[in-house]
This record gives sequence, C-alpha cells and structure tokens, in this order.
Amino acid sequence: MAYPVVRMRRLRKNQIVRNMVRENSFNIENFIYPVFVVHGNGIRNEIPNMNDNYHLSLDKVEKEIEELRLAGINKILLFGVPEKKDSLGTEAYSENGIVQQAVRKIKGSFNDVMVITDVCLCEYTQHGHCGIIKNDYLVNDESVELISKTALSHVEAGSDMVAPSAMLDGQIKAIRSSLDESGFSDIPIMAYSAKYASTLYANFFKYGTGSSVQFGDKKTHQMDFANGNEALREIALDIEEGADIIMVKPAMMYLDIVYRAKSEFNIPLAVYNVSGEFEMVENISRDLRWDLKIELMTAFKRAGADMIISYHAKEIARNLKN
Ligand SMILES: [Zn+2]
Repeated sequence: MAYPVVRMRRLRKNQIVRNMVRENSFNIENFIYPVFVVHGNGIRNEIPNMNDNYHLSLDKVEKEIEELRLAGINKILLFGVPEKKDSLGTEAYSENGIVQQAVRKIKGSFNDVMVITDVCLCEYTQHGHCGIIKNDYLVNDESVELISKTALSHVEAGSDMVAPSAMLDGQIKAIRSSLDESGFSDIPIMAYSAKYASTLYANFFKYGTGSSVQFGDKKTHQMDFANGNEALREIALDIEEGADIIMVKPAMMYLDIVYRAKSEFNIPLAVYNVSGEFEMVENISRDLRWDLKIELMTAFKRAGADMIISYHAKEIARNLKN
C-alpha cells in the first residue's frame, strides 16, 4: 500500500501524536558524569574549554556529588590528576593515590552513588603513555600487569565498577582474574572496547588530566578511525575476556560502530561523548545549543547506546528536572 492511502504525515500532525509514536528517548538514568579529582584544598577550578566541568580537591568533591544527586545523576566516572608522575605510573595503583582517596571519601558519604573508576596509567606516567615504554614502544604485558594492579586498588578502595581505557591486549582478562582471585567477582568491568585514536581527546589530556603524550602517539593500541570491522573484533574479544559493558569512544562520529556493535552483540553498551565533541556543541550559536544537545543524546540512544558518558550530563539533567 502506498500514497494516497498511506500518508506518513498523519502521525506527525501535532506534538501529542509525535510523542505517541516516538521510538527513542533518553532519561537521566542513562547518564554517567565524568568527575576530575586533584590533590590540594579548596580547589574547584573550571577546566579550560569545558564549561561547568571542574577540577575538584577532595574537600570540594562531596558538594559536587550532592549537586549531581539533586539533578538526578547517581553514576560518576572518576579521573585523577596526581601530584607526581614517574615512568611506572606508581601513583595510579598507590593505596593513597588521588582516585583511591576520592573513592573512599565519596563512598563513605554516599552509598546511593555508583562510583566508576577509569583505569589507565597515562595520567600517572611522566611521558603521558598508557603503560611502560621500552625503546619508544608501549610494552603490552608488563603494562597490563600494572593496569590490573590499578583496577584492583580502585576496587579495594570501594569502586563499584572499573573502566579500563588503555586498549591494551588482554587487559580485560587480566583484570577479571585479578578481581576474582581477590574476592571481587561481583564487580563489573566496563571496557573501553572500541576506542579510537582521535583528535577529539586533545583538550581532555591537555587540560582535563594534564597528561598529553610527550612523544609519539597512541596509535599502536588505540584504533585507526578508518576501521569498523576491527572494532567488532575488539569488542568480541573484550566480551570473551569478561567485559560486562562495552564502550565505543568517541561517540558522535562513530554511531555506525555503536549500531553494529549493538546489533551484533546486544549487550549493555556505553558511548563516551568526549571533550572535543563537547567543545563543538558548546561552540554552536547559543540559541541552537540546547536543541542540539537533545538531538545528540537521542541519536546516541537511537544508534543503540544504553549509557551515555557526557560532560553535558549535569546541565541536561538539571534542565530536565526543572
Ligand atoms: Zn591511557
């Protein structure tokens, strides 16, 4: 059957009808908000180019979490900025590292907030790479050992879920077995399974964590942005190694990967709406910004994302609430 019997515009006639047949929407429960913790006291500094996202010292972090809870956000992804860095990223897995301290503090005050910790070494190494460098090359297995140690130390501090982000081979397997052996078999892993070597992270590393690479790049472990099939293979491996949630990062330009991953595996999927994407959206004219954010978040859901990690989350949640 076709026109004139079929008229698609009948179900677009007004907002009530359009809402009735709407296929996808997002809600506050879908959001995970990134939080950056730093050493020191009384610090709540806005991160450059990241409106309303802050570096927070531990004495300021609870107030931020309280505000997020009031807005309806109860899941955060923690990143730490250490005081000192070295070639082995030792602060990443120190019992008194900044993330470990923050987790203890937040979980001590809010048992209804899910604290997810990003697990990598790049914030903690003085060269900004995600592990140990030998002959200008990131060595895999030794780095995975340290990454796994980092994940365990986060969970020992109280982390509810670990999110390994280095894209090293075998990291999910190593983390899963180390958590299981230590009695944490109930702690899930959200794997940055398809993480592309993208220009869109530049601001995050320059200002967010202050850990831009001092030489080379991350293309020996993060993915080539030209590849799609490889992403599915990476995701399949992570699932096999024990990932509970898979992630595609960045989000906006990789919705084909989100769609394919969801169709192929149908397991919980997160997108990371990264700092460069945030900047692009914030730089569009003011009167278009809000509508664009709603369109974008809905597009993530339409493509197949269950969870959205976004620097916009706080603002969107607040506005939806009002
Ligand atoms: Zn890293």
